[in-house]
Amino acid sequence: MKLLDGKLCAESLVADISRQVAVHVAAGLRKPHMTVILVGNHAPSESYVKSKITTCSLSGFDSSLVRFPETVYEQELLAKIEEINLDPSTDGVIVQLPLPAHIDQQKVINSISPDKDIDGFHPTNFGRMALGQKAFRPATAYGICKLLQFYQVPVVGKHCVVIGRSNIVGKPISIMLSNDFDIGNATVTLTHIETPRELLLDETRRADIVIVAVGIPGFVTPDMVKEGVTLIDVGINRLESGKIVGDVAFDAVAPKCAWITPVPGGVGRMTVAALMINTLIAYQNNFNLV
Ligand code: NAD
Repeated sequence: MKLLDGKLCAESLVADISRQVAVHVAAGLRKPHMTVILVGNHAPSESYVKSKITTCSLSGFDSSLVRFPETVYEQELLAKIEEINLDPSTDGVIVQLPLPAHIDQQKVINSISPDKDIDGFHPTNFGRMALGQKAFRPATAYGICKLLQFYQVPVVGKHCVVIGRSNIVGKPISIMLSNDFDIGNATVTLTHIETPRELLLDETRRADIVIVAVGIPGFVTPDMVKEGVTLIDVGINRLESGKIVGDVAFDAVAPKCAWITPVPGGVGRMTVAALMINTLIAYQNNFNLV
């Protein structure tokens, strides 16, 4: 069993980004700038935002954190996004999800300029990505692709099963790995909560690569996968003890795997690194550097 070390891979990507930024700054340009919007003080969101801001600094980026109380009106949030859309000093913007229930999340995502949508959630970017066109690719899915690429895990022609169909993870990774991209060309099955258990097991037991994003600790057990599988665990679940675990029963399943991601230190780190790549691209687009 070999570990797909997201921390190591992310550090390498971030170091490469900071070298590119240093070249641009030496040439007289300003630094790339990411703006993060955080509504409320949901503990996991606070921790994700902190990690994004810290990684901006390691990448040589400027960052701004805009905070709103849990009770913010949707209109106020939309007005702020419009202001950021028009601000030439910000290259990329993220609205940390989830938002409080009284706010229409999709409306907020749709209000972000596609040119600054570094999360890759705007329908324009999602559509372009699905069509195989140039786009900001959804960060977690893109991070998974970069991790597979970094460790040269064979993907082309492989049978990949994705468990979970969220718009932010399952759906985009299933499209990206089946597309004819720089990473992709796999044969992908997308499964979800309505997939009958027997069908799910038939698929996962034959899969060369299993990607799980369901949010259920210990969901993937050794009987569900074949020897030599590559297992990508997207889950981030906080147990009552405070421990963070993924969706895979890691200790039991790892011995069967050729490759496996740890939690923490796997996909989570790659999501942040992919956001940095997208921000650098937004910046380079802004200055016509690509
Ligand atoms: P979600 O929570 O929105 O939805 C869960 C998905 O799992 C649904 O599509 C559902 O159909 C599927 N599902 C539930 N039970 C199932 C079953 N028995 N069989 C098959 N499918 C089933 O999904 P999400 O937002 O992608 O989050 C999933 C997990 O990934 C969570 O733990 C979340 O915290 C984590 N996450 C991690 C990152 C990261 O950067 N590592 C990013 C996003 C989400």
